[in-house]
Amino acid sequence: LSKRPTPGLEQSSQRGHDGRLRHLISLAGLSRTELTELLDLSQFYVRTPGELPARDQSLAGHTVANLFFEPSTRTRVSFELAARRLGADVVNLDMHSSSRVKGETVLDTIYTLQAMHADVLVMRDAEPGLPAFVAGRVAPHVSILNAGEAHLSHPTQGLLDALTIRQHKGEFGALKVLLVGDLAHSRVARSAWQALATLGTGEIRLAGPEHLLPEDSEFTGVTRFADIDKALADVDVVMALRIQTERMSAAHIPDNAAYCREFGITAERLKLAKPDAIVMHPGPMNRGVEITAEVADGPQSVIQAQVTNGVAVRMAVLATIVRNAHSQRKAP
Ligand code: ASP
Repeated sequence: LSKRPTPGLEQSSQRGHDGRLRHLISLAGLSRTELTELLDLSQFYVRTPGELPARDQSLAGHTVANLFFEPSTRTRVSFELAARRLGADVVNLDMHSSSRVKGETVLDTIYTLQAMHADVLVMRDAEPGLPAFVAGRVAPHVSILNAGEAHLSHPTQGLLDALTIRQHKGEFGALKVLLVGDLAHSRVARSAWQALATLGTGEIRLAGPEHLLPEDSEFTGVTRFADIDKALADVDVVMALRIQTERMSAAHIPDNAAYCREFGITAERLKLAKPDAIVMHPGPMNRGVEITAEVADGPQSVIQAQVTNGVAVRMAVLATIVRNAHSQRKAP
């Protein structure tokens, strides 16, 4: 990994020379129209559980490689199902057990996959910078899809959260949305904020323990609350975030019971929100910490809908970037 980028230095574009999205690395910089088009296509791929899932051949003949340098089951399976339902070949590389251990650089792995005709590389990494670094170095027909980058970016999660909110609540302009918990370490919160702000959400609120709030320079335009009860008043959407213990030093890991008492979403607390407020969590949930089981499994929870929407969103993103990469190939 000696060829690792220095975070912040690498800002390679996610757009092709025609200005269209060729990679998806971050939701920052996407226009409201682009986000809406992605949400509309995602909605086209949504089926209710019990129905057969949507399928088409948008990715027939294409190969999608999942490279996860950080453990994941849910997101990897979601990308895999999305790619297969669009007719792609899929390979999963467990990067913990393969090339890194043998000392191969990430770029060598990427070039090997590219030489085997992989067209889309879905990547997750615990450190910032890898997706943009790789996107700046792959062949023109290869697309990079960020499946979770450190605390920074998780664009398909941001889209699935926006889609879930739109399905249940309609127009963003009229909504108050609360993101609560470990905001400092949350790529889910950053991508959700980018999507929701661009989509014109009426009010975005943040609440969490002082030491888990992001820098003031981040999340511009939001309202910050130290008191969860005040933050919950009258909101339409409550998004609880996982405590990212893997990104904290031991001294910063909150005590579970104390955290639940102060910031956990309990049935009692939820009464402060609008009566028809929805409750979201990106998973994996720590039941009894960020959210009680009663709320997670209760009538206001849309957590399963988020998971269902995740596959549809990933289908929409895969279909879009592959289509855009094709038009690039044809361009002079
Ligand atoms: N699964 C999401 C992610 O990878 C959320 C989480 O881990 O808390 O970012």
